[in-house]
Amino acid sequence: MSWEIKVERTKTPKVKPDQNNLGFGDHFTDHMFIMDYTEGKGWHDPRIVPYAPLSLDPATMVLHYGQAIFEGLKAYKTKDGRILLFRPHKNMERANISNGRLCIPPLDVDFAVEAVKAIVREDQDWIPEAEGTSLYIRPFIISTDPYLGVRPSFTYQFIIILSPVGAYYPEGIDPVKIYVESNYVRAVKGGMGYTKTPGNYAASLIAQVEAKKKGYTQVLWLDGVEKKYIEEVGTMNVFFKIDGEIVTPAVEGSILAGITRDSSIELLKSWGIPTAERQISIQELYDAHASGKLEEAFGTGTAAVISPIGELNWNGQVITINDGKIGEYAAKIYDTMTGMQYGEIEDKFGWIEEV
Ligand SMILES: *Cc1c(COP(=O)(O)O)cnc(C)c1O
Repeated sequence: MSWEIKVERTKTPKVKPDQNNLGFGDHFTDHMFIMDYTEGKGWHDPRIVPYAPLSLDPATMVLHYGQAIFEGLKAYKTKDGRILLFRPHKNMERANISNGRLCIPPLDVDFAVEAVKAIVREDQDWIPEAEGTSLYIRPFIISTDPYLGVRPSFTYQFIIILSPVGAYYPEGIDPVKIYVESNYVRAVKGGMGYTKTPGNYAASLIAQVEAKKKGYTQVLWLDGVEKKYIEEVGTMNVFFKIDGEIVTPAVEGSILAGITRDSSIELLKSWGIPTAERQISIQELYDAHASGKLEEAFGTGTAAVISPIGELNWNGQVITINDGKIGEYAAKIYDTMTGMQYGEIEDKFGWIEEV
């Protein structure tokens, strides 16, 4: 089989959106990458084609049983016109972890990163240049057998689409209010919580909708068994500074191993800041707040990098963290990581890959 990527260019390029008003996930570029999988043949026919709707049989398995995974990363344009990716191999290794759980055949990690680079290169004119903007990259795999019955599919498609996105914080970083969810659960150990699979997000919607009605931006999930231990926030991992130490829940099967999480831990350690991955109960957090030792709270994820948490509501007990302002460490991680991503701060970790 050949790993050469065939290219079919669009004959009708789109008008590009206003760079100062991009939002997130609303606009898509001129092309997409597609590769097929067939049992017995493996992954084959990698190609770049004009961005267009997919034609799927109504019996296509992914529509009924949700056998699918996705990833999310960004391409950044530097002031001198280079295109940078942040730890893309980590995304594709994680795609394979998700694939393993979902009975989807693995990707060749190096080739999948090459595919990301190829489609980004093809649509590089779509990478916005305004401060804080980027090109969001969404690789995903769907099961494509037309079949009604629960079993792994024999055929799949690996697709990569691109979306120019605006600055997450056009008016500066504002801490968010988070509702601690004590009724619904997102995932349990043994389930799919550590994968990026659509079902996890479908399961989370109702809590998000109800939290929004109460005036909260997102929910903080507790463990699915005792509803005692902190898990993560929406599509972000969560960190707290308690009495000078940074703590974050350990990755033990029910939460996503975020790349921003891992990078934040590496940065904190490189600065000599005590950092622990462990179990954290919601009671411990509230006790720390009561004794004046809860100093910072923030979420980490590719979309926002850092999202400071200014308020928590757990069963009606409302606490304000760091006077509702961004904390020192959250700000330092944000500035360093975005500085590296836009090529303005030296990368001593080998995280940046040029396209
Ligand atoms: C994607 C995601 C994250 C953050 O992962 P990053 O690799 O840092 O973007 C955290 N939690 C969930 C549930 C996610 O889907």
